Amino acid sequence: ADAQEAMRSGAEGVGLLRTEFLFLDRATAPDEEEQVQAYSGIFSTIGSSKPIVVRTLDIGGDKPASYLTVPRENNPFLGLRGLRLSLRFPDLFETQLRSLLRAGAGYDLRIMFPMVSTVEEFLQAQSVVERCLQALAAAGQNYNDRCQFGIMVEVPSAAVTARAFAECVDFFSIGTNDLSQYTLAAERTSAEVAYLADPLHPAVLQLIDHVIQAAHAKGKWVGLCGELAGDPVATPILLGLGLDEFSASPRSIPVLKQTIRQHSVHASVAISQRSLELANAKEVRAYLQSITDQ
Ligand code: PEP
Ligand code: MG
Repeated sequence: ADAQEAMRSGAEGVGLLRTEFLFLDRATAPDEEEQVQAYSGIFSTIGSSKPIVVRTLDIGGDKPASYLTVPRENNPFLGLRGLRLSLRFPDLFETQLRSLLRAGAGYDLRIMFPMVSTVEEFLQAQSVVERCLQALAAAGQNYNDRCQFGIMVEVPSAAVTARAFAECVDFFSIGTNDLSQYTLAAERTSAEVAYLADPLHPAVLQLIDHVIQAAHAKGKWVGLCGELAGDPVATPILLGLGLDEFSASPRSIPVLKQTIRQHSVHASVAISQRSLELANAKEVRAYLQSITDQ
């Protein structure tokens, strides 16, 4: 239903397909056939000519699955979640990757891993991918052998070391929801500190800038799939920083497209550069408001 809504809203692809819906609120993990069916239904709704970026399982932390035994943690948001959890449960991870690669045959499939902190984690994930590709080929299965693999940039260490990641990933997708909470050390579910985790804080903007520059230096593309991408207030900054892909919820797409068309990239560069130099999110928001008022 979400894929249909995205297409009706004018989406030119899918920038973030969250796969958790298949794994939560059940007693056992979905098997390979169930996953192939679910992904195939979504992919056929989007069509073979549009890029489809799928995120592998991002559970753990505040979203535990009853069938996975994980220790209780004092800081679940800093614990075994995202790719860390997938690497801990290789069978679960391989089943999902095989399902995606099978369902993705004939589609412009791109797979990304959530909550990546180090290049080693990405390389470990890639070796699991290699195993899956070999197994699919050996079994004579129909699968996507041209899939791109990338990371979500949600952890400051991944943003800071983007140059090293750019050597091995096909693309980056910046997850500003988590990147803001980790950069400002302000948990996203806490109403007490919500005022701190503003993705327009120059600290977050500088990380976004750094990732885009590192990626482009190696010819890699960068998307942004946090809520910030769909916020028209941020559009001139993101355009000016050189963002290649905006991933937003279906209902924000029409206004987002209209806003993008109202800005020239050239004029946006000055706006983004000025924003990077401001002291806090409040100043950035006031600056953007002053431009709108002109
Ligand atoms: C993000 O962290 O920005 C993101 C898109 O992932 P989620 O909101 O699902 O954590
Ligand atoms: Mg996230």
